Amino acid sequence: MTSMQPAYDVIIIGSGIAGLFTAMKLDSNKSVLVVSKDELKCSNTNLAQGGVAVTFNPHDYNSHVEDTLKTGFNHNDENRLKIMVEEGGSNIEALMSMGVHFDCDADGNLLLTKEGGHSKRRIVHYKDTTGQEIIRGLLEACLEKDNISLKDHIFVTDLICEDDQVQGVKLIVNDRIESVYASKVVIATGGVGGLYEHTTNASIATADGIAIGARIGAEVADMEFVQFHPTALNKKDDAHFLISEAVRGEGGILRNEAGEAFMERYHPLKDLAPRSVVSKAIIEESNKQGNQNIYLDVTHLPEDYIKNRFPNIYIKCLSYEIDMIKDLIPIVPVQHYMMGGLKTDAIGRTNIKGLYACGEVACTGVHGANRMASNSLLEAIVFANRVAEDINVAEVIVPDLKKSFEAIDDSSCIKSHTYKQQLKHIMSEHVFIFRSKHDLIYALELIEGMNVDLSKKCNSQEAFELRNMIFVSKLIIKAAIARETSLGSHIIEGE
Ligand SMILES: Cc1cc2nc3c(=O)[nH]c(=O)nc-3n(C[C@H](O)[C@H](O)[C@H](O)COP(=O)(O)OP(=O)(O)OC[C@H]3O[C@@H](n4cnc5c(N)ncnc54)[C@H](O)[C@@H]3O)c2cc1C
Repeated sequence: MTSMQPAYDVIIIGSGIAGLFTAMKLDSNKSVLVVSKDELKCSNTNLAQGGVAVTFNPHDYNSHVEDTLKTGFNHNDENRLKIMVEEGGSNIEALMSMGVHFDCDADGNLLLTKEGGHSKRRIVHYKDTTGQEIIRGLLEACLEKDNISLKDHIFVTDLICEDDQVQGVKLIVNDRIESVYASKVVIATGGVGGLYEHTTNASIATADGIAIGARIGAEVADMEFVQFHPTALNKKDDAHFLISEAVRGEGGILRNEAGEAFMERYHPLKDLAPRSVVSKAIIEESNKQGNQNIYLDVTHLPEDYIKNRFPNIYIKCLSYEIDMIKDLIPIVPVQHYMMGGLKTDAIGRTNIKGLYACGEVACTGVHGANRMASNSLLEAIVFANRVAEDINVAEVIVPDLKKSFEAIDDSSCIKSHTYKQQLKHIMSEHVFIFRSKHDLIYALELIEGMNVDLSKKCNSQEAFELRNMIFVSKLIIKAAIARETSLGSHIIEGE
């Protein structure tokens, strides 16, 4: 049975890269609780393939900033972006000193790859399973530290907040809802892929962090900018396994059913154009051909190279009887990343006192309207570090403990799962790559029409997730309606 202290100095919601790196960077005299609603390693981080973009040489900072601005359609917060690029190298070194490995050549120099939007090779990686390696290293490092308690299968339902100061969290533990107190809470809950039928995201990505933060008044920003990744494996029975952009970075070419390499007709960077451009081109090209398949071709690359550089992708494709050494890989764009989220300042603080956000759940503004490949893991460590540094020097406030328990009642929630499927369908049909005001308004009406009982009597995890998903879907749709012209990943049909 999971035991929970009544109070900690810091509570971190999420055991992905953002949560675990924050925990590692906090002073050892702080008592830290890290919770995850699933297994500790079930996260988007664990699925990351391509790597982490990083610039060590100050002479190259400018080009990393410029590439990110171009890819983000200049909607980026340039000051925060400079912080991310300039502090990236020291945080990657910190990650390595915690025990995380990246691929190196025989002399021990980091091997660098390239992905969409990058004008040069600057992405450190561990084969095509970079995220798994990061989580392995960070979990092992956290387990070594006496001040960090890692708890799995604990679902945070709400934040406790009084007078604009966060006081702790409510969480489901041992089939009841308990309050656990801390004057510093870090939301590191990741993305929103669960709002869509087809996503590369892990099952935990049900937008909880944005919802629980916004419900107590934390501001959100850029909610209309949802990223769709151009190349997920197009096999209808699969949860859309990602074919990393690094595959195109290493020479992969997109082809239509006729075998034509069509990207040169859409963008000067061809297959390595920004993700929003490539996704749009794939849909347009497929439509032009009467909904035909689009493929990724690596058959011109050497067999040994493919097997060594992309072992995980190679094996996954083989399990679908696709031998990427000689066969084309059918691909399709699916939901992948959320640029928007809880609005933070340059040190990860939200507008609620004591409440921080970092990682995919946060909107620091670095990505603009379209995230550049491999900048997400970089953003997570740079701003997690800043969050930890701020908490380390902050005044310690002892929270007022008021214990309360509430039993879980599942009986009236049998429909939550069905409602979730309905919601995903609405978002996939009407709030996908191409948008129109009419369609967005219709989507809002459909969600209202679902008539979901959101009263507190439904308090299972599934019901809380549904409540969060509905809340965040509406935020996305309203932000999309408000932005009347195309920008980055927000594409108005016909523009
Ligand atoms: C397939 C895939 C490949 C990717 N490849 C790359 C790449 O190569 N490079 C790159 O930079 N980015 C990549 N990304 C994006 C990147 O991996 C993510 O943006 C990043 O890992 C997010 O980290 P995070 O710590 O914010 O969230 P996550 O790693 O998703 O962790 C979220 C944590 O929050 C917990 N949680 C959520 N809600 C609750 C709740 N209510 N209560 C308790 N716990 C909760 C979860 O259980 C989980 O532990 C990829 C993403 C995917 C899906």
